[in-house]
Amino acid sequence: MGVALAGLSRCSCESTPAEGQEGGFDGDRAWGHLEELCRMGPRAHGLAGQEKAREYIRAHLESLGVEVREFPFEYRREGDASPERFVNLAARIGRGASKWVIVGSHYDTRLWAEEDSDASKRDRPIEGANDGGSGVAVLLELARALRAEPPDIDVELLFFDAEDYGRPGSPDYFLGSKHVAAHLAELYPGERPACVIVLDMVGDSDLRFLREGQSQRAFPWVNDLLWETAKRLDEPAFAAGGTRVVTDDHTAFLSIGVPATLLIDFDYPYWHTTGDTLEQCSAKSLGTTGRVLRSALIEGKF
Ligand SMILES: [Zn+2]
Repeated sequence: MGVALAGLSRCSCESTPAEGQEGGFDGDRAWGHLEELCRMGPRAHGLAGQEKAREYIRAHLESLGVEVREFPFEYRREGDASPERFVNLAARIGRGASKWVIVGSHYDTRLWAEEDSDASKRDRPIEGANDGGSGVAVLLELARALRAEPPDIDVELLFFDAEDYGRPGSPDYFLGSKHVAAHLAELYPGERPACVIVLDMVGDSDLRFLREGQSQRAFPWVNDLLWETAKRLDEPAFAAGGTRVVTDDHTAFLSIGVPATLLIDFDYPYWHTTGDTLEQCSAKSLGTTGRVLRSALIEGKF
């Protein structure tokens, strides 16, 4: 892509002296990451903002002493003359435990706001504060918290490309996670994750999670782990009852028999609109998601 990186935002971790020292998940720090991501503008495939987001993710993780690997892949959309190149980012946090889990989120945002109520805005790219931003922000702060207080299991953070690359009805969605699932044995020779937890749209200021229906049918223990942790931490955003089926980056893993779930609040009126901005999100919601996730990773039985 060769996009110039002039004006790249500095990683917010550099300005925080206590970084890496304190345990616990800090919703305000996650919010700082979300603000930085949104400042880069839309982060859809091929846009300068996406290159900046990749560099930001890398800079933050490397500042924590975490190595970042790239999993590039190619994909040709029907009707396109040649394939496009995409990149998933991966980072392992832990002490080399034999048991490990994947925690993933897509970092691309959507090129079109086709759900916008204003027809004149439907060809515009979205800011994606919630859809493409919130999950990444939580993963970046989670990385700091887990480096400060490592769990017994290892955690593989995955930043998926091209979740939102497709036009409605096309097969061009979830490309990054499909690539990892299809090449799991090559990317991770001789090892298989205990489970996969995907975050998408976890920043809505009016946060309410339902158990995702496909995962609940196939591997309810992964949801139990998160929901029981939420109950213990007294986080009511994890609704006591109800399920909702949502296809997302966890689906490719379910289809190869890897236990997987999705944390998503799909009751979000700004989904795939130009209204998906920071104003609809909150540090509190990022904090709720991150605290539950961190505690589940540290205390859960995998
Ligand atoms: Zn989306």
